[in-house]
Amino acid sequence: MKVIVVPLGKESDGYENYAAHAKLPVILWDDSTTEAFIRERIKAHIEGEENPPICTPEERWRKPDKGALMKKSSKKRALKLYDTERQAEAAKGAMHYIEPRPGEDVRCLFYCPVNKFCSYYQGLMSETHQ
Ligand code: SF4
Repeated sequence: MKVIVVPLGKESDGYENYAAHAKLPVILWDDSTTEAFIRERIKAHIEGEENPPICTPEERWRKPDKGALMKKSSKKRALKLYDTERQAEAAKGAMHYIEPRPGEDVRCLFYCPVNKFCSYYQGLMSETHQ
């Protein structure tokens, strides 16, 4: 079996993540796992016909919020990105400030072919255009 890895991302992502994606392990499912997954997806599809469930953060390729440690004299690039603003605050000195970097749902914004029909996506768009 051959695995061909095609990295997806915005041009601004560059290729620094390519190696990480290329090294992802391939987990092969046995027949019972595959069948259970298919049955679960069919059930979710039937149950969700009237009111489809919102995709999980993992399914939306959610990038989490970050706290960027910035130097006061230079507003160009973050010195370091922290997973929480609290962690960034702990690292902050007198010459620094913290810039919140909101996360984003990468799949919804750039790759989902049905986003124009999705209530979650429409909510995102109305939030960003207010
Ligand atoms: S836009 Fe697409 S990926 Fe995002 S929540 Fe809606 S259906 Fe899921």
